[in-house]
Amino acid sequence: MEKEQKHVAVIGAGIAGLHTANLLAQSGHKVTILEKEKYPGGHLNQWHHLFPDHSSPEWIISGLLDEQLQFDHLKMISSTEITSIEKNNGHFAINAGNELRIYADAVVISTGFKLFDARQKEEYGYGLFKNVITSADLEQSLKSGQPLTTASGKTPSRVAFIHCIGSRDAKCGNTYCSKVCCITGVKQALEISEMLPETEIFCFYMDLRLYGSKFDDLYLQAQKKHKIQFIRGRLSEAAETHDKRLQIKAEDTLSGRPLRMEVDMIVLLAGMEKNEAHQMFSSTKLLELDEHGFFKSKNIQLTRNETTQPGIFIAGTCICPMSVNETIENAGAASILVNRYLEHQQLTNHHE
Ligand SMILES: Cc1cc2nc3c(=O)[nH]c(=O)nc-3n(C[C@H](O)[C@H](O)[C@H](O)COP(=O)(O)OP(=O)(O)OC[C@H]3O[C@@H](n4cnc5c(N)ncnc54)[C@H](O)[C@@H]3O)c2cc1C
Ligand code: SF4
Repeated sequence: MEKEQKHVAVIGAGIAGLHTANLLAQSGHKVTILEKEKYPGGHLNQWHHLFPDHSSPEWIISGLLDEQLQFDHLKMISSTEITSIEKNNGHFAINAGNELRIYADAVVISTGFKLFDARQKEEYGYGLFKNVITSADLEQSLKSGQPLTTASGKTPSRVAFIHCIGSRDAKCGNTYCSKVCCITGVKQALEISEMLPETEIFCFYMDLRLYGSKFDDLYLQAQKKHKIQFIRGRLSEAAETHDKRLQIKAEDTLSGRPLRMEVDMIVLLAGMEKNEAHQMFSSTKLLELDEHGFFKSKNIQLTRNETTQPGIFIAGTCICPMSVNETIENAGAASILVNRYLEHQQLTNHHE
């Protein structure tokens, strides 16, 4: 039986979409990647160095893009936001905001996540006090190659990292753990300490969730070599002092004592949450969302990349928070399930 070439549309050219697309093209399928931004790579474009090995995000993105050069049957359409998906007779029509319409035999959604908007936690002063920044802002600052300073240009003598911003917090509607922010904080604390060895660094955490391979090594390095102090306690508020420092009030939950401290800069470790794509693609009732607003898998144990809609697959952080290596592994798993689906379609059509 001659194999008919199938067409797969991959929505979102972050690392999940790029890797799934490459593997599907390698299997011989025609693949179209649709990306809303001008450039592929997703959130990785915004990060400086990656935990746990300080590798370069550019290196990962360019590696994935270089692989694509070998496939004539893979194409990327950028600056194109997909707004809806329709299903008709087992085939899919993918519609973009710019009137483009693409037809496909299977769809992979790899539209990623959104960073929690730290302004929602008003008590910490993000957007009000200039020296309160997020972990994403700090990545931008580190990426610029400029030494870290306060808004007035001074070297900070004290920096506090605050964990669990917009995660594990029923008040802002996200009760789950974003998984990557504890280790992002440890990595960033180490980077500041290496750049500014005189700066005192404090991390206020609820629990430290350092689940990944090599994450504990970074934590031990932070504690032992760099004397970064980890305080188990939740910040109640931050206020600006007359000289633009920040006073923080917290409770040290290990000693049971209230704690007040003045620092020059606060870094809020903002979590990962659902984005506009979750809302858009679920509004047509083709796809379901889970209790946290991410895409719902058909079976979270066996086939996390399958949705409740045959032919529509999900890959990467549009399913739940993941690190880079987890996203890559997840994208690999998605490509296997798409292949299996298309092979099954081929056999069914042949027997009809
Ligand atoms: C502050 C922070 C720091 C981090 N640092 C690290 C680190 O050091 N190491 C590590 O392992 N992980 C890190 N992570 C996690 C890492 O960012 C993710 O694992 C990775 O970005 C997931 O890639 P993705 O492709 O699933 O999603 P994304 O990177 O979000 O990519 C999704 C893509 O889909 C596109 N898209 C969205 N909607 C549409 C639409 N409707 N139509 C077309 N295109 C669309 C987007 O423009 C984007 O290009 C960090 C996360 C945060 C929040
Ligand atoms: S990874 Fe750490 S900072 Fe992030 S939500 Fe989980 S416990 Fe909080």
